Amino acid sequence: MALKVEIDKRSGFCGGVIRAISRAEEFLDGNPSGRLYSLGAIVHNEAELKRLGDKGLVTIGHDDIAGIPSPEGETLLIRAHGEPPETYTQARKVGINVIDCTCPVVLRLQESIRKAYNELNGTSGQIIIFGKVGHAEVLGLLGQVGGDAVVIEDMPMLLEALGNGRICTGRPLEIFSQTTKSPVEYSEICKVLSEHADAGLTVHNTICSQVASRHEELAAFALSHDVIIFVSGASSSNGKVLCDLCLSRNPRTYHISSPDEIDPEWFGPDDSVGVCGATSTPRWLLEEVAAKLSTIKKLQG
Ligand code: SF4
Repeated sequence: MALKVEIDKRSGFCGGVIRAISRAEEFLDGNPSGRLYSLGAIVHNEAELKRLGDKGLVTIGHDDIAGIPSPEGETLLIRAHGEPPETYTQARKVGINVIDCTCPVVLRLQESIRKAYNELNGTSGQIIIFGKVGHAEVLGLLGQVGGDAVVIEDMPMLLEALGNGRICTGRPLEIFSQTTKSPVEYSEICKVLSEHADAGLTVHNTICSQVASRHEELAAFALSHDVIIFVSGASSSNGKVLCDLCLSRNPRTYHISSPDEIDPEWFGPDDSVGVCGATSTPRWLLEEVAAKLSTIKKLQG
């Protein structure tokens, strides 16, 4: 008996990633023998990176920019996560062309953090960012305020910062979230913070709407199948959040990065299997996973 397999209609790249990849492919298709440098992985998915790498996309780190030979004739792509202002200065300094693919949602968040910081300056207030420490988007946000913000990754980190005074509750506080964090966790963090904020707390709703709506839909999808196969790259922060969400609704959730990792032992004969992924998981990979699942035959009884 073959498994019943359904791919989640809403899974696949978000608008920001689609935009960055289309612009990279447009550039590479117009320069067939050329090369495009991407500052950091354009998407946290190894299979998609390999596909784009074969077309000429070269992923580099910040330290590599200065070492690019003849940078005046080369092009650097800034991915959807965005960058701090220093990166643009560095690119200008070496003379490399820039294709800026910062997602418009992230750009708006950068602008609003800058604005809040300037306004808070007169009141000695404090900016708090709910996000993953060291994540590229968070580094880009910190760059907007010269690093003068407290990054909180989760509830234990918030409680620690409240306890050791890193967050000064006697100062006006403004909190922003990285675009891909969990809306439920963000509201819990804001609730606890507001209970301590003696001089007031302003909460900015900066979770990407594409991510926020995904949480509810994905939770329903996870409940509607016997087994969930969650597909995402090992380094995808959004993948971790969404896979944990599936796991919390359906304990028979398995995380994989490629179809080869599927274990037929995970399934029973009558199981319905849902295939879903992160905002960085390409649709073609979900389809490959579904195709492999459809070949698994389970014997009744
Ligand atoms: S998750 Fe949202 S904010 Fe982040 S890149 Fe995608 S569309 Fe942009």
